[in-house]
Amino acid sequence: ASKPLTSTLAGTLVDTISGGPVGGATVTITGRPAATTNADGQWESTGAPLIGIAQNVTAESEGFLTHQTALAWSGADRRDVTLDAIADRAPFSLEFYRQIVRDGYERPMVLQPLRRWTTAPSFYINVTNASTNETMDASEVAMIVQAIRDSVPQMTGGRFEAGPIDTGTEVRTLANSIYVHVVSDATANYCGRAFVGVNPGDITLNYGLTGCGCGRQQKMAPSVVAHEVGHALGFWHVDGVAMMNTGWTLPCASTRFTDQERVHAAVAYARPLGNRDIDIDPSNFTAATAAGPPPVVICRR
Ligand SMILES: [Zn+2]
Repeated sequence: ASKPLTSTLAGTLVDTISGGPVGGATVTITGRPAATTNADGQWESTGAPLIGIAQNVTAESEGFLTHQTALAWSGADRRDVTLDAIADRAPFSLEFYRQIVRDGYERPMVLQPLRRWTTAPSFYINVTNASTNETMDASEVAMIVQAIRDSVPQMTGGRFEAGPIDTGTEVRTLANSIYVHVVSDATANYCGRAFVGVNPGDITLNYGLTGCGCGRQQKMAPSVVAHEVGHALGFWHVDGVAMMNTGWTLPCASTRFTDQERVHAAVAYARPLGNRDIDIDPSNFTAATAAGPPPVVICRR
């Protein structure tokens, strides 16, 4: 059989947050004429087959962030391609997204690539305090477990629940797992620190310090644990009333992230690892293995 002279790529363009169709948008596949979406968001591109490589695709529409992505394509007709673009209006805020996803609040000049989990994280909690050698109270461990369970679905767009949460007394860094350990370091001016969005993950909780617990009864605030889990899932500090504000602007016992945080986390979890500002996906599917040490964020008390 001879090669076909043309082949078709077709599909739909939807709003990342609402899932609704995006009409009147331009979909461009490198090397082919641009296609325009109809009112149902449908588009179709016919041209010479471009086989065996990732095809660069751009979706542009007034009022949306231009999304550049890549498609693997065998060259055969394909009509099931769903593209999405982020509507640049409420509930989305590019300024907030840059803060929480790209560290734009603390380091606006060096916007970070998106880092996130691609599998449900499991957790391992070392219950031995490395500073005092004491074992944490069971009630405190239970609080940490609950804060983890509460946080993971909220900040992954509901894609993931926390996997198994084990406890023990060893230092343990495992693939697909976040290592949670505690110190009591009164000389250090932080409540927690975490690797941001890397696998394996690492969270340090500074346990029993003034300003990191909820009064005298509880030595570690659930909100601090939730905040550190937010970092471990890929998110940075933000301005305003939010769990990810290091000024601890939400109630101490709360593990509920704001609607704004959850919406923007869901957008991030709709994007591949390594996505860059404004909305550029990596051009190949093996990209985004970070070089160098994992990014660490430190959360003052
Ligand atoms: Zn923090």
